[in-house]
Amino acid sequence: MKDYYNILGVDRNASQEEIKKAFRKLAHKYHPDKEGGDEEKFKEINEAYQVLSDEKKRAQYDQFGRVGGTGAGQGFSGFGGAWQDFSGFQGSPFGGFADFDIGDIFGGFSHSGFGSGRSSRVSKGQDIYVSLPISFKESLLGGEKEIRIKRKAACDACGGTGAEKGSPLKVCDRCKGRGKIEERVMGIFTTVQTCPVCHGTGKVPEKVCHVCKGSGIMEKEEAVKFRIPPGVHDGAVLRVRGKGHAVRGGIPGDLYIEVKVNKDPHWTREGLDLHTKKQISVSEVILGTTKKVTLPDGSFVEVKIPAGTQPCTKLRVKGKGVATKTKKGDVYIQVDVKIPKKIKKDTKKLIEELAEKGEL
Ligand SMILES: [Zn+2]
Ligand SMILES: [Zn+2]
Repeated sequence: MKDYYNILGVDRNASQEEIKKAFRKLAHKYHPDKEGGDEEKFKEINEAYQVLSDEKKRAQYDQFGRVGGTGAGQGFSGFGGAWQDFSGFQGSPFGGFADFDIGDIFGGFSHSGFGSGRSSRVSKGQDIYVSLPISFKESLLGGEKEIRIKRKAACDACGGTGAEKGSPLKVCDRCKGRGKIEERVMGIFTTVQTCPVCHGTGKVPEKVCHVCKGSGIMEKEEAVKFRIPPGVHDGAVLRVRGKGHAVRGGIPGDLYIEVKVNKDPHWTREGLDLHTKKQISVSEVILGTTKKVTLPDGSFVEVKIPAGTQPCTKLRVKGKGVATKTKKGDVYIQVDVKIPKKIKKDTKKLIEELAEKGEL
């Protein structure tokens, strides 16, 4: 396992600022376009930075010693493959050198081949995390769901432009209408950044929107519809793309919904199997019977209880457990024998007779 902290030469509890600084320094030093540059070393630094600069990936790395995985259930086992549509962690997290977006840090290298033809990175709004309690039955059947969340979205009054209605636009003073600001770093590279005043548009309104004060963003309560897959398990996380917070001049973050499945009084779940108990009378277990058992999804099955079934026997009904798109579990019914606490005098007599014969 590679020690990313060691590679960047930072402390394990280094701040993002320190990590960024260390990366910048090393990236400059080993950049392959430079004399004395080292492509291998540069890749390694890049890989370390990609992980440590992303709080989510850094936390995984700290906890599990690696990031991501190549398929569900692999990689960071803490989630046990629970994350669904978590594309940010799918596939190889280090797609090699070609995937490195140098614009991440430098906004494009004007002196090297790396910057050419590469658009600078689009900023992304913050993700929103919510937890959603659902009933046991809902978790089995899945279905459409709607929740209300508060999120930052484009301002209603100005439609996200930040300009008061009818206000004309003027050229941005800060960037002189170019939408970008260039800065020399260490006299070697030129960094190009999106202008923080006009957010890259090159224009600013003469009068800013009175609702959002020119930010173009406002907090809104919004209804979000999504689909719960059938058979979803407790703790699964669903992603709704683009329903996180919006950001000016960028794309909105995502909404993550953690499913909390409520307990059922009669049923428990183990993997895809469902378990329950059924009370059967003494005569029924002795003579055998057929019982109707209502399943948590509302359907029912007829279960044959053979004569002579022992207490605590588990009867399996194949294929009636949790059904996902691809798999089906089974239902297990544990036989609980109901012993009467009080019996009538003549019943007692009959049982005593059987007992004397050694039959019961
Ligand atoms: Zn500007
Ligand atoms: Zn506005």
